[in-house]
Amino acid sequence: MFNNFMRRAEINYDLGKKDLKRYYNPMRDNGWLEQKLNFIWNNHFFDIPRHNEVSIKFGQKASTRLGSIKLIQNSKFKIQNYGKVHCHHRTLITITGHFIDERVPEEVIDVVIAHELAHYAHGFFSPLPQLARYPHHGGLVDTELKNRGFTEKLKFQKKWLKDNWKDVIGTTLKHRRTRRRSRKERISIFQFLIDLVILIILINFPMT
Ligand SMILES: [Zn+2]
Repeated sequence: MFNNFMRRAEINYDLGKKDLKRYYNPMRDNGWLEQKLNFIWNNHFFDIPRHNEVSIKFGQKASTRLGSIKLIQNSKFKIQNYGKVHCHHRTLITITGHFIDERVPEEVIDVVIAHELAHYAHGFFSPLPQLARYPHHGGLVDTELKNRGFTEKLKFQKKWLKDNWKDVIGTTLKHRRTRRRSRKERISIFQFLIDLVILIILINFPMT
């Protein structure tokens, strides 16, 4: 992660001051998510070994599924035992695209990333031994998060989502409606122009 950080810094340094400024005022992109993942792993999940490549990215703007974790099998490698997860399988964590919106507090995103990491720690979509039959068995994930210092952030996340989530996803819906309306307007302008052309033709070439 640090190497990645340095690489980005170097690239931006080469590009000049303007880009350097952009780097110090980072937007929420996949690199930002990766830094977050590494920070949470190093500070809250440091006892969990990272046996395979784990990547994280923003996905579609999902309103209910805020995060997900899955395994990508690399076909280049021969799978020795079916059903067993090997180190060369890549784990991919996907975070809802709504979290790019800067109104969403970072704490809310942290908890979602930690939730997916808890699944990894329990052996779901990871090469680690599976600790339970189902990923959410008996509130397993929340207990894990509380044990790892997320009690306050969990409470905050729950309340924030209850109070604000509708606004965040509602704005997107409103934008979509506005777009649709303007498309309708464009169609009516087009229709008006056609009518005008027909009228001009009729005036110039009156039917006898
Ligand atoms: Zn889950």
